[in-house]
Amino acid sequence: MARDYYEILGVEKTASQDEIKKAYRKLAMKFHPDKNPGDKAAEDKFKEASEAYSVLSDTDKRAKYDRFGHASYQNMGGAGAHPGFDNIEDIFSSFSDIFGDFFGGGMGGGRRAGNRPRRGADLRYMLEVSLKDVLDGVEKDLEFETEKNCKTCSGSGSEPGKQPERCATCGGAGQVVSSQGFFSVATNCPACRGTGQLIRYPCKTCKGKGRTLEEKKIRVTIPKGVSTGTRLRVAGEGEDGYLGGGRGDLYVEIRVRDDARFERQGDDLHGKVEISYVQALLGSEVEVDTIDGKKKMVVPNGTAPNHILKMRGLGLPNMRTGQRGDLCLHVQLNIPKKLTKEEEKLLREIATTRGEVVLDKKGFFSL
Ligand SMILES: [Zn+2]
Ligand SMILES: [Zn+2]
Repeated sequence: MARDYYEILGVEKTASQDEIKKAYRKLAMKFHPDKNPGDKAAEDKFKEASEAYSVLSDTDKRAKYDRFGHASYQNMGGAGAHPGFDNIEDIFSSFSDIFGDFFGGGMGGGRRAGNRPRRGADLRYMLEVSLKDVLDGVEKDLEFETEKNCKTCSGSGSEPGKQPERCATCGGAGQVVSSQGFFSVATNCPACRGTGQLIRYPCKTCKGKGRTLEEKKIRVTIPKGVSTGTRLRVAGEGEDGYLGGGRGDLYVEIRVRDDARFERQGDDLHGKVEISYVQALLGSEVEVDTIDGKKKMVVPNGTAPNHILKMRGLGLPNMRTGQRGDLCLHVQLNIPKKLTKEEEKLLREIATTRGEVVLDKKGFFSL
């Protein structure tokens, strides 16, 4: 599960904004993708730290996080609800202040976009489903925004018919080397932002970016038995690739909505059944709420409070085997505050038969 944001940045809960910024800069420098090319673990650390920083550097978000923890982000459905970054470029543009002055990139200093094919970013979509959806499986329509290559310029960023020119500052390499104290860091060329190319006649549709944001709608099938945290990969539904690179994937992350009636424990569901003291003693047949609707259940005589009555096969299906768990009903005894005259008379007779000491009507012991 998600790690604590303070822990990720290695700061105290009481840390000042300055301390948080400093801690993040240190981590960002260490795990910067340019310094760890091809290192997936470093990239994940970089994203994780950036996510933590995105929340803790924002006073409102931080206050919310302090109160509700990760839940403050996870109970919202839909794309973009989660503060996480799936796209490294997003991180650079979000925290351009940090990367700008730290890595000397200048222009929101990023990373070599490169002029070679690159795969599109993966997207994450948080989807809430009900317990009933978990039982039956469900089809959902997802709507989200995704980055596509601009149709007007086919992603070149230049007006149709014009070609981008080679950047004179970096000679087309996209990078310049600068010193930062002990480090010699290769950063993006500030003139061309790492692309190695200059666009003299920007495409009007995408303003030279080569990319446009588009609404996308797809239908996904959620299999039976999913649980909170299940990640479903929808291949090729992420962002478009660059320069002919493949498309990213879409990851649908499941959150199962709480149900007031049942608590899930693995494939089993736990619920409550209320019975009277008479039913507990003599046994009965009662109607209970199950995920499949109302069902009748036998309560054996001599059922003690907190006893668990199992209804086999009325739990949730296992995602792998499809086999259903059980419904476990915790018995609650309903003890009336007030008895009818008739009930009281009969109960007093039972007490006498059993020779048990009970309070009389005025609340005194009668022997
Ligand atoms: Zn350049
Ligand atoms: Zn364009």
